[in-house]
Amino acid sequence: MKRIYLGTNLKMYKTNRETVTYLKELTEKTAALRCPGLELFVIPSFTALPEAVEAAEGKIKIGAQNMCWEDAGEYTGEISPRMLKTIGIDLIEIGHSERRHKFGETNFDVNRKVLAALRHGFTPLLCIGETEADKTYGVTTECLREQLKIGLYGVTGEQARRVWVAYEPVWAIGVGGKPATPEYANRSQQVIKDTLAELFPDNGGEIPVLYGGSVNSRNATGLIEQPAIDGLFIGRAAWEAESFAAIIKQVLDAGKRNY
Ligand code: PEP
Repeated sequence: MKRIYLGTNLKMYKTNRETVTYLKELTEKTAALRCPGLELFVIPSFTALPEAVEAAEGKIKIGAQNMCWEDAGEYTGEISPRMLKTIGIDLIEIGHSERRHKFGETNFDVNRKVLAALRHGFTPLLCIGETEADKTYGVTTECLREQLKIGLYGVTGEQARRVWVAYEPVWAIGVGGKPATPEYANRSQQVIKDTLAELFPDNGGEIPVLYGGSVNSRNATGLIEQPAIDGLFIGRAAWEAESFAAIIKQVLDAGKRNY
């Protein structure tokens, strides 16, 4: 069965209580929509994770927004894989554009986190995407390939089975971002899929590649209908349970695949 991946990163917006309310509402509103092929996930703040896991009741996958590559040590302010393991989550977002561009994370840092996540049995959600400048100078393909080749360096074919990738063009994300056209997104997603197949000849083609960047109820269907888009990673338009549930319904109704 083909799967479809729909999720949101709550960034630094919701308190613990708001996260729990949101998840309870989302669980309720998606009860009739959930199906075996739907991978529904929410990535709240670290502080809300234990309560989020409880509120999601196993019906929505919960992930963390970041993680240190070390198990323990002199890393003030960081969260280790061992700590996340005790919470009972299995998804770790790594290399989001804001981590790279506001906190200076490099592809090499991202790689260490991906390897640590895999070592601890997590699913890393590796986020990549070109900047406006990369697009202007025509180096989008090079940028995406570099982010994948360094980000996934040292990952074995067996481990690759657990990797998810999100393509999020930096110029398309957040307030002031404008969504990529479905055709543009599909072209980049195909570059990513081809690179993954090159890196992991046995199973790279099976790694899910999600699109993110100003997805909303107006463009979700057009995007999910693209052959190289396996799911949507949504920010602002998913932060109200009602609007996220409406997008989920819309995407499932688009019936691109037999979920
Ligand atoms: C994001 O920040 O990863 C994102 C996709 O946000 P938005 O949908 O708000 O552009």
